[in-house]
Amino acid sequence: MMNSNLYKRALKVMPGGVNSPVRSFKAVGGEPVFIKRAEGSKIYDVEGREYIDYVCSWGPMILGHNHPEIAKSVMEAAGNGLSFGAPTENEVIMAELITSIVPGIDMVRMVNSGTEAVMSAIRLARAFTGRGKIIKFEGCYHGHSDSMLVKAGSGALTLSHPDSLGVTEEFARNALIADYNDIESVNRLFEQNKGEVAAVIIEPVAANMGVVCPRKGFLAELKAVCDKNGALLIFDEVITGFRLSLSGAQEYFNVKADIVTFGKIIGGGMPVGAYGARREIMELVAPLGGMYQAGTLSGNPIAMAAGIAQLTILKEQQEIYEKIEKLAIMLEKGFNEIAEQLEIPICVNRVASLVCVFFTKEAVVDFKTAKTSNTKLFAKFFKLMLENGINLAPAQFEAMFVSAAHSKEDIEKTLAAARKSLSLIKEGEDF
Ligand SMILES: *Cc1c(COP(=O)(O)O)cnc(C)c1O
Repeated sequence: MMNSNLYKRALKVMPGGVNSPVRSFKAVGGEPVFIKRAEGSKIYDVEGREYIDYVCSWGPMILGHNHPEIAKSVMEAAGNGLSFGAPTENEVIMAELITSIVPGIDMVRMVNSGTEAVMSAIRLARAFTGRGKIIKFEGCYHGHSDSMLVKAGSGALTLSHPDSLGVTEEFARNALIADYNDIESVNRLFEQNKGEVAAVIIEPVAANMGVVCPRKGFLAELKAVCDKNGALLIFDEVITGFRLSLSGAQEYFNVKADIVTFGKIIGGGMPVGAYGARREIMELVAPLGGMYQAGTLSGNPIAMAAGIAQLTILKEQQEIYEKIEKLAIMLEKGFNEIAEQLEIPICVNRVASLVCVFFTKEAVVDFKTAKTSNTKLFAKFFKLMLENGINLAPAQFEAMFVSAAHSKEDIEKTLAAARKSLSLIKEGEDF
């Protein structure tokens, strides 16, 4: 089987040949690779080629691909039936796990994706405050629900339509846009919309405009501004949850949020999301309260089995976090050294095990500076790395995810490929 044959067939029956725009190679050119299987730090395409993988399914595979314990839990659960539409023990265990690990969360509701988690968290914030408007940050991605597809990151940003067709004026008007790391821009919006803002939503580390770190104190200032104005702070931890540290960004940055959303990692690769908050807020959710939110497949037994297995391993083996951060630091240092020797201007941003190489000489601290990146150079880099057996996300404005299955040798191979790729780029470009 050939990648290009599959792609031709896919193009006929799926928009762009993919089920999520970020998988297409639109931003980098060429044709996407079709994956057959994955194991540990490696993925294999249908032509049998092996790649060291830094997409890791966009985050969930923090323990590496096809982890034997997770696979075993899924097989066992599948043997008992795929879905019941009724409560199960595993849902209780999953909720107990999350509430015991994440600070400030007394109750959770499981959903099927990060998009659903955020959409529901926003409805909940509106229900709790009786207000309508939401402040979000330019370049942050919070899934594709209507109210969040305004100045969004990830594929929306890469493919140059951060404002989507089909999102009506009314939705867009309720999303107020602030600048990442700029507390004054948040203050101004509160000032201009007194008593109308239900919540501020943020990726505590922005990982959908590349990786952008919150400056020191920014998240704490944000919480204070929210409190002062009677608005809730929503941490969208779909990427940072159980990745920055076991307890996520709240612990990592020592800042409490009012509502937290999860996705990706908590399903161990199965489609899962969740939102949680303190009891007083969660008691508004149906059937306990008047905020309606439901899901036929929510808390699906197979997904819960995968999630429980993954979160349990993370909880029991917290040395994993130190390991993946060390590997990420190796990448960061390596990229910086190579680029310096070759005199190619780059900015490497890293927080914990999230890494991003921006092709710019600016320090990337927000959307504007992220956009100074030379995406044509990134496209060349991406293609050369892929040819050398390294799978990066096919767009500049995404993160590299390091997993516990990556080895030092993987990192060394990756840096050797980067040296080769950047040397070729250097030959063809003026800097
Ligand atoms: C991926 C992502 C989402 C959306 O999750 P889906 O499972 O793709 O719907 C929301 N927020 C953040 C921060 C994400 O990275």
